[in-house]
Amino acid sequence: MTNSAELYTRACKSIPGGVNSPVRAWRAVGGAPRFIARAEGCKVYDVDGRAYIDFVNSWGALVAGHAHPRVVARLQEAASRGTTYGAPTENEVKLAEEIRRRFPSVEKLRLVSSGTEATMSALRLARAWTRRDLIVKFDGCYHGHADGLLVRAGSGVATLSLPDSPGVPPAVAQQTLVAKFNDIGSVEELLARHRGRIAAAIVEPVCGNMGVVPPRNGFLEKLRALTQAEGALLIFDEVITGFRLARGGAQELYGLSADLTCLGKIAGGGLPLAAFGGRAELMDLLAPEGPVYQAGTLSGNPLAVTAGLATLEILAEPGAYERLEQSARRLADGLAEALARRRLRGAVNRVGSMLTLFFGVERVEDIDQARKADTAMFARFFHGMLDRGVYFPPSQFEAAFVSLAHAPRDIEETVAAFDDWAGRVTI
Ligand code: PLP
Repeated sequence: MTNSAELYTRACKSIPGGVNSPVRAWRAVGGAPRFIARAEGCKVYDVDGRAYIDFVNSWGALVAGHAHPRVVARLQEAASRGTTYGAPTENEVKLAEEIRRRFPSVEKLRLVSSGTEATMSALRLARAWTRRDLIVKFDGCYHGHADGLLVRAGSGVATLSLPDSPGVPPAVAQQTLVAKFNDIGSVEELLARHRGRIAAAIVEPVCGNMGVVPPRNGFLEKLRALTQAEGALLIFDEVITGFRLARGGAQELYGLSADLTCLGKIAGGGLPLAAFGGRAELMDLLAPEGPVYQAGTLSGNPLAVTAGLATLEILAEPGAYERLEQSARRLADGLAEALARRRLRGAVNRVGSMLTLFFGVERVEDIDQARKADTAMFARFFHGMLDRGVYFPPSQFEAAFVSLAHAPRDIEETVAAFDDWAGRVTI
């Protein structure tokens, strides 16, 4: 029988780091990643024959859980009619309509295959619309791996930006200005310094990529007003939050409208699909209507569209969001209670069904506080939970996701496993 350790050794010979996306390699927590054989409901099963309650959920894509019978049945039926045509289909139109119904700020949209493509295309559109080049992003927010978005602040906000990766030309990185999430002053400073030159600000309205960090009261509202006053577009990257925090994502939750919205993950129900959209006058700049080029061989892929439609249908059932909220609240409360009972220092951040347990800090409201978290303790937590049959994301700086497939007993089992780990861990 092949096991995870053997597969990893083999994988490393053919695939850099043995994985097709870096976090999967568990470098932040140590050890060799488990190879997954199958998954169902809230559980994943590895090739070593072990089962785990899964809070990765394919990084938030699977809000209905793994292999949901309706999604699988629709996919089987769709696959039998062909997997891709490179020509338009009725289901693409249906999915576009379903998305518009949920996001009033999205009058028109394009389907693409990954969140990276969605944000990259939204930025191109914003630059074309405003005829400006500079972009504002926030330190700690992740928007995929397009060159201009792999950027962090230099020494202090409002200074030159540095590439986060070799291969990103400094000239490209310098088109991206880096502000601080939850620090509106940092945005004001950038806007004042680069008046008339900023095409857009892109933000995760609830940050999921420094661990979960909610927006402070008024932060997003002020960002909305500032960008508008400056003639810059506001891009909400709702790749994680879209359809998760509410039907209409963070925009519905906070009562705000973005100029452009990026969606992904849940939109494709576990298959590769993402989208970007906004006001019709902006979107009509795209070819073939307008001059801004954007395209994709597999964009609007029939299987991905089918899984997306089925997932949105499941989320539209009465009580779906209430169930997500209840399960996630119980999990967050259970983890926080166990932390207190076991006298471990930590903080649980949660918005809806996305949450992060930070170790070694009492609260995390921005990237500086997130960076102070005890990542060594997180690694022990991760492995401790894994040993107890619970699979959390393998990094302190990722969100854990609750799905509709997590039943109350799965949540209680997870809380009990955490309490047991927390009671035994030595500080
Ligand atoms: N935007 C956000 C907020 C994300 O979390 C991610 C990926 O996790 C992306 C964009 C990029 O999406 P993808 O990995 O599909 O390219």
